[in-house]
Amino acid sequence: MKELSLGKSVKGIEIKGYSFGNENAFNKTLIIGAIHGVEPQSKEVCDMYIEEVKDKLFPEDCYLLLIPCINPDGLSLKTRGNANGVDLNRNFPSSTWKSVPVSGNNSYHPGREPASEPETKIIVNLLKKYNFKKIIAIHTNHTIQFPNVPMINYDGEQSRELAEKLSNATGLLAHADVGYPTPGSLGVWLGKDLKKISTTVELDDKKTSEELYKKHVRLFEVGVIC
Ligand SMILES: [Zn+2]
Repeated sequence: MKELSLGKSVKGIEIKGYSFGNENAFNKTLIIGAIHGVEPQSKEVCDMYIEEVKDKLFPEDCYLLLIPCINPDGLSLKTRGNANGVDLNRNFPSSTWKSVPVSGNNSYHPGREPASEPETKIIVNLLKKYNFKKIIAIHTNHTIQFPNVPMINYDGEQSRELAEKLSNATGLLAHADVGYPTPGSLGVWLGKDLKKISTTVELDDKKTSEELYKKHVRLFEVGVIC
């Protein structure tokens, strides 16, 4: 395992990535937690996976870059958005990006322009640097009580196979539609604009990180190798 410094948040907190396996492997996976600061379990399950695999042999011909917390300011402030009050998951440079929130309240603010935030820029630059085969974002359904969550949401037909494999591995249902519009989200940008294989995992926020990890740990194992 290598620890990488990927950049800094608005408040200057270092954003760390952890890499595993062979960087030249074709099967490269990016996993991101805590895009929303109010979803701490999404970071903690990533931390638990790191603890579990850091001293083990990593699957051959696989590479993983894991970012447990892309929004450290939001996590410390207990806000959905970053320190500028921007919802990072509405700030990606998707063709669907809108300058005003289309659902939810002001905590869904998309930023002054696409990829205006340093945290968003880190992900955009990583996508330019590495040819990831697939990207998995981990969330919890904080405050959102739509009928389909917890679930594995996927964007684009190319992402269906990954979503179904993760569904089989975790018991979470795969859905093509999250149930509400998400312009400028990471999933829409990756899946609809870049045609990348991309899933958004929504875990049950009523469960502790320990419970979630125990129940869904194969999310990581299967996410890396498939
Ligand atoms: Zn979220």
